[in-house]
Amino acid sequence: MHIVEHLIGGAWAAGSDASTVIDPRDGRPVTTAPAAAPHEVAAAVAAARAAQPAWAATAPAARADALRAAANAVEHATGALARTMAAEMGKPEAEAAASIAAGVGTLRQYAELGPLHGGRTLAGDPGALDLMVPEPRGVVAAITPWNDPVAVSCGLLGAALATGNTVVYKPSERAPATGWQLTALLAPHLPPGVLSMLAGAAATGAALAESAVDVVAHVGSTATGRAIAAAAARTGAKVLLENGGSDPLIVDAGVDPAWAAAQAALGVFANAGQVCVAVERIYVHGDVAEEFLTALVKEAAAFEIGPLVDVRHRIAVHGQVVDALDRGATLLAGGVVPEGPGAWYPPTVLSGCTDEMRVVESETFGPVAPVVTVASFDEGLRRASRSPFGLAATVLTGSMSRAHRAWQQLETGTVKINAVFGGAPGGAAHPRRGSGQGFGYGPELLDEMTATKVVHLEAPPGGW
Ligand code: NAD
Repeated sequence: MHIVEHLIGGAWAAGSDASTVIDPRDGRPVTTAPAAAPHEVAAAVAAARAAQPAWAATAPAARADALRAAANAVEHATGALARTMAAEMGKPEAEAAASIAAGVGTLRQYAELGPLHGGRTLAGDPGALDLMVPEPRGVVAAITPWNDPVAVSCGLLGAALATGNTVVYKPSERAPATGWQLTALLAPHLPPGVLSMLAGAAATGAALAESAVDVVAHVGSTATGRAIAAAAARTGAKVLLENGGSDPLIVDAGVDPAWAAAQAALGVFANAGQVCVAVERIYVHGDVAEEFLTALVKEAAAFEIGPLVDVRHRIAVHGQVVDALDRGATLLAGGVVPEGPGAWYPPTVLSGCTDEMRVVESETFGPVAPVVTVASFDEGLRRASRSPFGLAATVLTGSMSRAHRAWQQLETGTVKINAVFGGAPGGAAHPRRGSGQGFGYGPELLDEMTATKVVHLEAPPGGW
């Protein structure tokens, strides 16, 4: 059993108001974690504020060295960290290790990019010097989710620390020991107060979002993102939001239905559907719908997945499936809550879905494939864009002109053609609508974590 503590200004503290995390694989308790109260939030923010000037004054190359040493420590601890992650949120250990490797890679990238993140000179009067200089924003609150807890945290923490900010980190209450172990690996490489960590749930997150920080960076659900944006509007903090999605997959006529079904299965069922860019709704052309559905049912039967994060989430996922069935969808696979401990839920396929069903309209975040049959590619494109979200979309088509039209017309931050996952390193998009705002990834995250100062320097009268 992990016993999580807060890290406040370089000192570990037991905290109070503890709650228990249950292993979603077998229902056993795995972690107990405290919840930081407002005075602990204030203490962590004050420590971050106090540590910030010296960290900002540290040479970027020295900050990068610290990040590299921290990345090495995380890499060496991959096995233990993956076991904790698997026990808290159900990701199979090998997949957890792969996502930790991604996090380590991100820390190293920001260690390399931090010292290269400069401003520019301006073409002003030759007798003057005109510069645009990026400066750290100050104190960054990093509030993160459970579904990819190490990789997401490494991104926000790496970019914030590389650019001279100090950080108050609040990992998800559904994976607190994962966040606590990650902090324990990173913090020894940083001066006290540069990285603090607070355990706790929504109330702790809300107290942090309302506190005197300069940036609130949140990766999580749309509802939380909106609450954070409202809180930050009162304090003036900059807000960075990477939030929920309901990503469409459009399957064109003329594609190989078996290949399309394999792509759909990967997009829907990977990490038991608990991926921000999971495929959440499928618009399939009537010409291939029947063969596609037959192949997708086969894929569902063969796909091995871990459990959902917890029973509370399973109730929400299953509720959407029941709602769809009540409204006339047909269950082709899964859709039944299994007996026994844990939070397992089978790969599920629904046909005959409509846009009004919650499983199509909202984010499901589970292994559920709601399939809508459309009469044309254009109808699929239109309906795909009609969404309160705008994170990502995938199109499967053999037509270059339709592929081209799709990426131009889809109102999402990311568009993928003929592959549900993939993309070059460093890709960062602006999510649209309820999916968030700002760059949450890539080199551009360094821009978000800094504020630009314009400097105009003239010689004093009489010359230099
Ligand atoms: P969540 O928003 O419920 O929780 C995320 C974090 O926010 C947690 O640390 C939580 O304690 C905190 N929080 C909750 N209420 C808060 C409040 N009122 N004020 C401040 N903080 C608060 O999200 P989750 O369930 O942990 O994660 C799943 C969601 O994250 C999904 O919607 C998924 O799409 C999204 N996600 C998005 C991306 C992306 O890059 N767009 C990546 C991963 C996950």
